[in-house]
Amino acid sequence: MERVNTKRINLGKNTIIGGQNKVLIQSMCNIKTSFSTKIIDQINECAHYGADLMRVSILDDKDLDSIKEIMDSIEIPLVADIHYNYHFAIDAINKGVNKIRINPGNLNNLNEYLEILNAAKKHNTAIRIGVNAGSLKNDNKLKVSDLLVNKALEYLHFAEEHDFYNLVLSLKTSNPLETIEAYTKISNLVNYPLHIGLTESGFDEIGIIRSIATLSPLLLKGIGDTIRISLTSDPIKEIMTCKRLLHDIGLYKNYPTLISCPTCGRTEVNIKPLAKKVLNYLEDNSINLKVAVMGCPVNGIGEGKDADIGLAGGKEKYLLFKKGQLIKTVDEENAFNALVSEINSMIKN
Ligand code: SF4
Repeated sequence: MERVNTKRINLGKNTIIGGQNKVLIQSMCNIKTSFSTKIIDQINECAHYGADLMRVSILDDKDLDSIKEIMDSIEIPLVADIHYNYHFAIDAINKGVNKIRINPGNLNNLNEYLEILNAAKKHNTAIRIGVNAGSLKNDNKLKVSDLLVNKALEYLHFAEEHDFYNLVLSLKTSNPLETIEAYTKISNLVNYPLHIGLTESGFDEIGIIRSIATLSPLLLKGIGDTIRISLTSDPIKEIMTCKRLLHDIGLYKNYPTLISCPTCGRTEVNIKPLAKKVLNYLEDNSINLKVAVMGCPVNGIGEGKDADIGLAGGKEKYLLFKKGQLIKTVDEENAFNALVSEINSMIKN
């Protein structure tokens, strides 16, 4: 897939955002930043599951005080998220964060914004200008997407006029269509890397569906250098959702594909627990295979023939198959172990 060739921004810790680099996955810690041990554990766990960078909120001096310890204990770039208080932004930059996220519209005036730009220039720190629909003034004459684009351009041009170019942009709303429109417009106007995502998307399937409805059309047009899927949930869930989305549209290679049938009147066993167990195993062990878990022995092998390997569940026996060919039959209690053993021999060869 051809991607928009944006400017490359160095985030430190061997991470580049933009250009033809991979789409970076990110999330945000949901623990107060001053609880540094917990934050470090969460960031390292997120990195283990595939986060390329992580963001933390800076709300007070205690949060600022923990930045150095956090920076020293993690391998991926740290982004500090600051609203309203420009001193916090400058302090976070001075303490060495790799990027800050601000919405200049939340500051008191442009002088405060300029002071942040000057500090970031001195430390070579990247800034994400994050404009959200919630911070815009109502204007019945303009569409939300145009308001977002105009605001982002205003802050971007101000930075450029002051010789600052180390920028990433985001323009978020909680409405998929407005968000798609805003990112499509800004992508045609500037070549800075774009952090794409939907804000306040909701929980579980609601948030996942809404986010994917927004991000997929953009990513398929080559728009987006880093993604966050904001869910009312755990950051690990956000990261896993990002990975699955990127994998399914061909932007994340080293990841398993699990297929399982929808089940029907021919279904003889409950395949959902088995399918979940198989997916967890594949993900935990980073096994890049296509694996099928099907609900009946009659059609299961045929419908799962595109998979590298699979199981078709039956009342009497489970059928273990590879590329549509039966390998052997196994009892239900041995089905998972038989599949795993065959997978392990495949990846060794
Ligand atoms: S594999 Fe079998 S149980 Fe699953 S949908 Fe097809 S026919 Fe139905």
